[in-house]
Amino acid sequence: MDFSIPEEIQQLRQTLRDFVDRAVIPLEPSIEAEDRIPDSLLRQMREMGLFGITIPQRFGGLGIGPLGYALISEEVGRAHGAVRTLIGISNGIGSKILVSFGTSAQQDTYLPRMASGELATALAVSEPGAGSDVGAIRTSAERQGDAYVLNGTKHFITNAAHARLLTVLARTSKEHGTRSGMSMFLVTPDLPGFRLGRRHETMAGRGCGRAEVVLEDCRVPAANRIGEEGRGFQMTMSCLQEGRVAYAAMCLGLAQRLLEMSADYARQRVQFGRPIAEFQAIQFMLADMASSIYAARMATYHAAWKCERNEECAQEASMAKLLASEAAGKVADSAVQIHGAMGYARDYAVERMYREARVFRIAEGTSEIQRGIIARKVLE
Ligand SMILES: Cc1cc2nc3c(=O)[nH]c(=O)nc-3n(C[C@H](O)[C@H](O)[C@H](O)COP(=O)(O)OP(=O)(O)OC[C@H]3O[C@@H](n4cnc5c(N)ncnc54)[C@H](O)[C@@H]3O)c2cc1C
Repeated sequence: MDFSIPEEIQQLRQTLRDFVDRAVIPLEPSIEAEDRIPDSLLRQMREMGLFGITIPQRFGGLGIGPLGYALISEEVGRAHGAVRTLIGISNGIGSKILVSFGTSAQQDTYLPRMASGELATALAVSEPGAGSDVGAIRTSAERQGDAYVLNGTKHFITNAAHARLLTVLARTSKEHGTRSGMSMFLVTPDLPGFRLGRRHETMAGRGCGRAEVVLEDCRVPAANRIGEEGRGFQMTMSCLQEGRVAYAAMCLGLAQRLLEMSADYARQRVQFGRPIAEFQAIQFMLADMASSIYAARMATYHAAWKCERNEECAQEASMAKLLASEAAGKVADSAVQIHGAMGYARDYAVERMYREARVFRIAEGTSEIQRGIIARKVLE
């Protein structure tokens, strides 16, 4: 394994780090209060090409592969959840299926505008009766002439409130509970029969526009189907698998920032006449935080390196997601402990980041689902 990082990725990573410190962190209270990313920040993100990091250069993106994207995602992970999520969607679940399986016409129509950040996207898979069990979706897509008529409700769809293009998984076969009868569709909110349902109020995630998507006799042109009819489940799974490595890296970014904040606080906070950093109990917490980040980081880099080389990496991607999300949860808990009451206070970022870290073990495949994937490989 080669751990050397190409010069251009190093530079981009440093640029991202500076950008998060200088432009994002000062605006975090505003994102929380307003429940949206300020337009000025969105403009800067567009100018930096952050919506098209993974989108191929021929469509106006930066065309960066899985290893480079994982390294960059670590820096993105330090940013407020809304910024992290928006960049993650545009470079991952929002564009991946189109990049991998779209027709030239679909790619030419949408990818350049995704890469520029003009076209906000979302992936709509989950339903009230189908979370981990994607095979249980009930949203139907019935072929009628040159269109498919979609009916169903998707929920917890990140960015649904802002998305101008959604990739929707629906059942094209009447048989329920099978994985072969699903297809993917590009759906725009201007289509008759499309509407947003309720907004989800969640533990964290201000500015992420999370909502239900309701499709009622929504006529989607047949040309908007992505890939073959009946291959939607496989396409979704392949997109989620690749996304797991970048997701792991984002978890690490949040954990790393919490570690740095905790070390700074421990140096400054004086109790019993000396900085709390001098107490072994605090030192051990910092040591455990740093070690769990390091272990998860190595697993993530290795998984990314295998993906970059087009090697089979399903197990490593799941291990990286599992280790990094669990590490972020533990690190966030220790960060609150080290900060004492300040870690519990709403006006300090640690409290928000603690809440943000909780979803890492649920979204894009729960820890239990990752363990299932890993165990299946172990038992093969
Ligand atoms: C913040 C957030 C953002 C999201 N964004 C999106 C999005 O943009 N698009 C989208 O389509 N979906 C999205 N989701 C939905 C997300 O994909 C699901 O929440 C996730 O897949 C888990 O499904 P569930 O919540 O229905 O839990 P369930 O599947 O009901 O699971 C409940 C519990 O049972 C466990 N469990 C389930 N099956 C098994 C099993 N076979 N073995 C062992 N344990 C099991 C789970 O691990 C979990 O602990 C989002 C969710 C959240 C919270």
